[in-house]
Amino acid sequence: MTKRISSPKVTHDVIRQHRFTLKKSLGQNFLVDENILKKIVEAAGLSKGSCVLEIGPGAGALTQYLAESAQKVIAVEIDQRLKPILEETLQGYDNVSIRFGDVLKMDLQQVIAEECPPGVPVTVVANLPYYVTTPILMKLLTADVPIQTIVVMIQKEVAGRLGAAPGEKSYGSLSIAVQYVADPEIVLTVPKTVFVPQPNVDSAVIRLEIRPDKKVKVADEDFFFRLVRASFAQRRKTLMNNLMNNLFSKDRKPEILLALSAAGIDPGRRGETLTIEEFAKLSDSLRHLITAK
Ligand code: SAM
Repeated sequence: MTKRISSPKVTHDVIRQHRFTLKKSLGQNFLVDENILKKIVEAAGLSKGSCVLEIGPGAGALTQYLAESAQKVIAVEIDQRLKPILEETLQGYDNVSIRFGDVLKMDLQQVIAEECPPGVPVTVVANLPYYVTTPILMKLLTADVPIQTIVVMIQKEVAGRLGAAPGEKSYGSLSIAVQYVADPEIVLTVPKTVFVPQPNVDSAVIRLEIRPDKKVKVADEDFFFRLVRASFAQRRKTLMNNLMNNLFSKDRKPEILLALSAAGIDPGRRGETLTIEEFAKLSDSLRHLITAK
């Protein structure tokens, strides 16, 4: 086993020896606190049979701990320049498979099928690159892959959005996408000081335990999420205005009004006041109009 890199000194040494320059544009804030790393792995509840997907191994600090607790770790890293560093820090960890590429462009279903034993549910554990937190979470929640648990470090502000309720300022499409499949939990909040370099914002580790059943039943999931996105497109506009501007053409106004009435929703309300159950009802009653635009 190679030495742990989870300390500021070892991380700095490795970076210096490899003449590596950290890229802010790739969200490269490396975690250098052993305590926090251990807490992340603990929160993931891994067993020797677990298959883990890590997004952005960086220099491998978290990867080392994951490899020791799981059967298999797939680490997806966008930055090819980290290859020689990871070869050094993960030397001897034979259960780690590194895939270089952009996780947003990767066919996760295929990667998981190739790397994880069949039938083994996947746990996602990562210190996510902050510039793409929302698209990555959206991909994980909607990709048709057998993910059971997600434990990730994200910006504290985004963590607050996941569990937000209707009427709250931070309630939006991400809150609904998350609550549709899980009950989000903030495991711990993390100060800036445990990263190299320090980011501008505080962070939080969140856990999503994916439920076997969705929170609401909808006839057409794709349309449900299109409706949600359209309803939040311009937050200060009414639901009716957002639907006419972002989902349907204006000449469908009478039919939209009828569908809103059938779902028991006042057209003057704003999208941010609707519960997930109301969005589901509205989605089912508006669905027949989708060919309109
Ligand atoms: N896991 C390491 C740690 O905790 O120290 C590094 C975490 S750092 C916040 C985020 C990592 O994600 C970086 O290594 C970065 O290069 C990588 N990354 C950024 N965008 C990515 C993408 N689209 N796909 C895969 N990896 C990405």
